[in-house]
Order: sequence, then structure tokens, then C-alpha cells
Amino acid sequence: MKKELRFFSQLVEKLIQIEETNPVSEPIPTDQVIGKLNLEFEEEGINDEDWEKLIENVALYTPKTASKLFFNQLFGGRQPKSVLGDLLAVILNSSMYTYKVAGPQAGIEKVIIQKVCQLIGYPNTADGTIAPGGSMSNFMGLVMARDAASTDIPNAGVSQKMTLYTSKESHYSIPKNAAFAGVGRDQVRYIKTDSTGKMDIQHLNDVIQEDKEKGFKPFFVNATAGTTVLGAFDDIEAIHKICQQHQIWLHVDGAYCGGVIFSKNYKRLVKGIELSDSFSFNAHKMLGTPLSCSIIVTRNKKSLSKSFSNEAEYLYQTDADDFDLGRTSLQCGRRNDALKFWTLWKSVGNKGLENIINQQFHLADIARQYIESHPDYTLYSFPDSISICFNYKNISADELCTHLYEEATVMVGYGKYGLNEFIRLITINANNTEKEILHFFKVLEEGSKELESKNMLSMVAS
Ligand SMILES: *Cc1c(COP(=O)(O)O)cnc(C)c1O
Repeated sequence: MKKELRFFSQLVEKLIQIEETNPVSEPIPTDQVIGKLNLEFEEEGINDEDWEKLIENVALYTPKTASKLFFNQLFGGRQPKSVLGDLLAVILNSSMYTYKVAGPQAGIEKVIIQKVCQLIGYPNTADGTIAPGGSMSNFMGLVMARDAASTDIPNAGVSQKMTLYTSKESHYSIPKNAAFAGVGRDQVRYIKTDSTGKMDIQHLNDVIQEDKEKGFKPFFVNATAGTTVLGAFDDIEAIHKICQQHQIWLHVDGAYCGGVIFSKNYKRLVKGIELSDSFSFNAHKMLGTPLSCSIIVTRNKKSLSKSFSNEAEYLYQTDADDFDLGRTSLQCGRRNDALKFWTLWKSVGNKGLENIINQQFHLADIARQYIESHPDYTLYSFPDSISICFNYKNISADELCTHLYEEATVMVGYGKYGLNEFIRLITINANNTEKEILHFFKVLEEGSKELESKNMLSMVAS
């Protein structure tokens, strides 16, 4: 495959160069994309030269998620050591289920899990795994909680009305997972949030109490470390008190901002994390690894095996129980998502991961300061969050973001909290500096001028 590798490295060099001068790809309307880029298959294949041209063209039209003008969602940027780890994982093509086929790669995953358990202060009985994304990590947490609530649900199925609790601001995977787990979407109780987006503790307690009085079985509370819109952190200690009182499993969904465990300064945002029953975070969000790398850990490894192990004689053929990671994972054959996090972590150390997290909050401070010192802006978000929510000159957030996307100016999204809709800038690309953040505002201001004059023209025309 020498030829393909040569092509690959030339292509990547070209893409990175273009990304510098042209950080936003021109969007193609959905009804044109298949035809315009020749994505359809034909009976005969194409020659290598045409194949290479086609691949290059497709790559050039793909949204550039690592560029300095990508602020759209909860990931971005590129950690070179991590990218290399992921490329190597593809070449090695290990499957993580057994030590026999994964060898040291299984050791790498184990080291990551152990270190994370230590960092958050879990007991020695703790263990974890890597799931295909944060939604699936939340699913694993929910299933472990369900199976812990009764002795025989994995065999007999759910026979009781089981209720679960999560804030209105939490991720949509919670109701989806409730459906998957046979508990049902209707059993999800959405707890109110306060003005800063945190779960209302009193409301949580009241709703649990009410459900118990009705004869339901409350079994799972999901606390969020970094809500999807505002980036708010639920109060884990206060929620834990209630969970303890009612014997309910506490899961912390840190998909977005659970990475704060790596920072001495920002770890305070998940104070009490050691009291949780399970905790998950996406290294592909705050830690900047390629997608996906989602880690879930739990206090007692028995919870993992109770819910996820199954005998399989054809699979487990050596005496390496602890390193046969398939015994505690969601999948059977499983991609190696550990290596890319390990290559980064090994290279920069604990301190380097800490710097990544601190830089994201530093960039958020810069953005908030800019907004607060410019009267044309309104700020909607709070300190200790890397989601900066704002509006500019009363221009509709939806309209402005769509204009910026269509004109290939900057990739940024919008969100809603209460009655307010706003632009949401995510300062998660730790390779950015103050310069890129200020550049973002400049580009946004120029883009909105264009939009204003376009609207003016269309008013005149009509
Ligand atoms: C991103 C996110 C998820 C989902 O993670 P995926 O890897 O996209 O499945 C879950 N919860 C929160 C709070 C998130 O921000």
C-alpha cells in the first residue's frame, strides 16, 4: 500500500495548507451533493488517477472541523500526536475484545481506565471501558443502574415501572436510552433548572418523593457536567445526598466537560465526582482526540460484568480474564479508541492535558470579556463555561448563523435557553489563542454587516 500512503500524505499536506488560507469549506446544498461530487457507484470501477482526483475533491468540500474558524459544536482542532495514534490504530486494526488479538493495545486501554478512576478518587474496585460515544456511555450507565436496581432484570426483563431523573438541559440521549433499555421514555422525569442552567435540587427531591408515593421505582439520576447549551455543571454533592437517601444510582454525564478532571483548577466544577456510581467523558470533546473516544468508569467492576458480560467459548480462549476487555464492553468486535488518547497523554503528560483544559477556559474568558466590553453584544452565559452564548445587535441568531454558514464565512451554531435564542461560541479548540478568538468576532461583525445590507436591499426590492 505504498502508493496509497504516498497519496495520503500528499493529500493531507495539501488539505492543511488550504485550511490555513481557506478555513471554511463552501457548503453544497443537500440535493446537489451526490451529483456534484460524483458519489454514486457504477458497474465498473475507476482508474487510480481518477480515484485520487475524486477523493481530493470530496475532501476539499468536506467541512473543515480543525480550522481556526470552526466553532460549531462541541469538538474542534487537531492534536497531532493523537491523530497519529488514530492512524496507527487503523493500520494495526486490533479488535479490543481479547488480549489474544489486541495485546499491548488492551494494556493501553486498561492504563487509561485505571488512571481516570484514580484521578476522580474511585475505590480500587472501580473499572471502566470505552464506548462508541457519549450517548452510548450514558446508555451503559443507565443499563448498569437498571440492573443494580433489581436482582434479575438482565434475565427476566423489566416488570416494574422504573423512573429516572435528568435535568431539562441534559442531553437527548437520556430519553433515547430509556427507550432502548426497556424502561420507556415516559418514565423520564425532567427536572427544572435554575437561572444558570443547573438542576434544581429541591425539585429533584420532590419529584422522586412523588414517584415513590405512587409506587414507582426511582433508579437513576443523571447529573450533567457541562450541559449541551450553556455548559453548566450540576451540583454533584447535593444530588448525591438525595440519591443516597433514596438508594438511587448517580451517573455523571461529562461527555462535554468531564475533561475538567485533568485540571487542578477546574476539577472543582465536578466536586463530589468520587461519590457518583458512574461517570463518563468524551476525550474527543475537551481533550481534542479524533472522534470518537468516550470513556465510562464505574465504582465497582461487578456492575460492568453483571450488565455486559456473556459467556462465549469461541471468543475467550486464553487465560487473560482481566485483559479480555470484551467481557465488559457494549460491542463484540471493537475499534481501538484508546490508542489515540494514550499517544497524546504519553506525549504531553498529565500537565499537558491540564494545559489543554485551562487554555479552553482562558479562551472563554477572553471571549466573555470581549462581549462585555462591546455594547453591541448581549451575553447570556456564565463564568466557568466554555460555551459563550451571545447576540449581536439584536440580529436573529438563527439568521446570522445561517448566513455565515451559507457564505462560508465561519462555522458557529445557535442555541436556546428559556425564551432567549443566541449564538453559541465553543472555545474547545485549545490550539487557538487570543488572536483567533478576536478574529472570530471581527469575521462575525463583517458577516453581519453583509447580512444587514442584503436585508436592506431585499426590503427596497419588495
Ligand atoms: C456530546 C454530548 C453527549 C453525546 O456524546 P456523543 O459522543 O455525541 O454521543 C452526551 N451528553 C452531553 C452533555 C454531550 O455534550
